Amino acid sequence: MKLSRGASLVVASHNPGKVREIADLLRPHGIVVRGAAELGLVEPEETGKTFAENAVLKARVASQASGLPALADDSGLSVAALGGEPGIYSARWAGPGKDFSIAMKRVEEELNKRGAKDRSAKFVCALALAGHGIEVFEGEVHGRLVFPPRGSKGFGYDPIFVADGMSRTFGEIEPAEKHAISHRARAFAKFAKAVLE
Ligand code: IMP
Repeated sequence: MKLSRGASLVVASHNPGKVREIADLLRPHGIVVRGAAELGLVEPEETGKTFAENAVLKARVASQASGLPALADDSGLSVAALGGEPGIYSARWAGPGKDFSIAMKRVEEELNKRGAKDRSAKFVCALALAGHGIEVFEGEVHGRLVFPPRGSKGFGYDPIFVADGMSRTFGEIEPAEKHAISHRARAFAKFAKAVLE
């Protein structure tokens, strides 16, 4: 589907930071963004087996409940030597306290436990747009993991991730540098090209 200037779009997230970030990206295109919390929408359980399935689930529920087109994202870190883990469980590895130093430690421990030498990993972002049907846009950034974690500029697993061609972690580079190559930016570029006018 196409979203023209003046169209309303629900961002199917209760995370105010995420809603704000998406609103900033869409403002130049004249799209009016509404947050799921603001509309009193409930967050469905993420029962999908892939990033795309979870994004679709969230977008579909928000669109049906609001009667508006809805955009949802799901993202995480996929480590090759761990068979893609933590993957869709990336947030959950941080525990109820959302402590990513615990999650990063667990990644290191799991690699050591397996005696794995391969440190390759990727961040993945799936964006789903539900309205007239469903469309999914995926973005990835490939790189490798380093330990111990370095840098405090990012969030989540950023301090252990070095993108291909770089020497500093996503926690050490400036946000603008990350946004130029990130999984989320790449998924958004595809979404913008296909959907925005
Ligand atoms: P979501 O918000 O439910 O999609 O959870 C995604 C989780 O994946 C976050 O809590 C982070 O731990 C991790 N993640 C996703 N994108 C990034 C990123 O750009 N940097 C670091 N961690 C990320």
